[in-house]
Amino acid sequence: MQRIYFDNASTTPLLPEVVEVMTEAMQTAYGNASSIHHHGRTARTLIEQARRTVAQAIGASLGEIFFTSSATEAHNMVLRGAVQNLGVRHIITSPTEHHCILHPLEHLRTQQDVKVSLLPVDSDGVVDLDALDRWLRDASDGVMVSLMHANNEIGTLIDLERVSTLCKSHGVLFHCDTVQTIGKYPLDVSKTLVSFCAGSAHKFHGPKGAGFVYINNDNMIEPDLRGGAQERNMRAGTENVYGIAGMGKALEVAILEQDQRRATVTALRDYLEQRLINELNDIRVNGGKAEARLYNVASVSFPASEKADLLHFNLDISGISASAGSACSSGIEEDSHVLQAIGHPTDRKTIRFSLSPLNTKEEVNLVVEKLKTLTPTR
Ligand code: PLP
Repeated sequence: MQRIYFDNASTTPLLPEVVEVMTEAMQTAYGNASSIHHHGRTARTLIEQARRTVAQAIGASLGEIFFTSSATEAHNMVLRGAVQNLGVRHIITSPTEHHCILHPLEHLRTQQDVKVSLLPVDSDGVVDLDALDRWLRDASDGVMVSLMHANNEIGTLIDLERVSTLCKSHGVLFHCDTVQTIGKYPLDVSKTLVSFCAGSAHKFHGPKGAGFVYINNDNMIEPDLRGGAQERNMRAGTENVYGIAGMGKALEVAILEQDQRRATVTALRDYLEQRLINELNDIRVNGGKAEARLYNVASVSFPASEKADLLHFNLDISGISASAGSACSSGIEEDSHVLQAIGHPTDRKTIRFSLSPLNTKEEVNLVVEKLKTLTPTR
């Protein structure tokens, strides 16, 4: 059976050139990057090359990039550090952030008495930036804004320039979860004020277990992990040299192919959505207008039916990997926190199809034909 992978917002396959770089690193760069002998220096060189690639990709300086094990680690580090080291007492965020933001925030709220305010979002997941402006006007000292660049479930993008300008004009820190957009959309932190952001290699065809955090020089924080002097004392622990080298290569290719990937994947995603809307019954796409959404995500809401309840399962056994917009909690199927926040009707079923440049039109056609057998058609 041909298997089709349409779950690229969850994670992506490694590119062959990334495998190549990692394989070579495993064979030759096994030294400890902290050692000053030849083997250590070989590993160190790979790490510093990757740092240059990441820094250049987002317009940062080398000293502002720190490697981590994941974006989850990076975001936890930033949120904790902002509170403990930078005097943040109030974090303004949204209900549609990733759990790696919302859960640490809940911890900070309950354990450290940090005020957490959730901005309203509309039925497309668009965050109310007029409310942000008003709240920032009324806010006292110690405020940080934490908003994601693109939502991983429904793809809604924020107006990064506007949020950045608002934060700058009110003199508050801006933490941005850029995990879904690093390598996909241009970001230049030397022009757009972002105090902190993070990336994760496995979202852009790099390896799992490698991420980075950008910390602007003006708002350095203290480390979470103490021990060795790795990452200039910001994150102790022997570096994941192979992962970091793979991340550097994956990002280099992503930046090089950025425009072409965007054009190809947008066309595929739009084609998928149009076919579903035209050929199936009562299809809705979550997250607003296609142009205002992360270009590789189609979060498709299917009408209630007995078949819809089993849609995710039936796609899987038909060879199609996509993501369910719901999870089973205490034996009851519940919409995700994001779908709940946008008021997605509970009787409908959402499936997120997320594409990559490795997908083809033929695969889209196969998925549409399969969906026609699994859901009511027009
Ligand atoms: N933020 C967003 C928007 C994500 O989609 C993810 C991954 O699912 C993360 C953060 C966490 O990234 P990682 O898998 O590197 O911990």
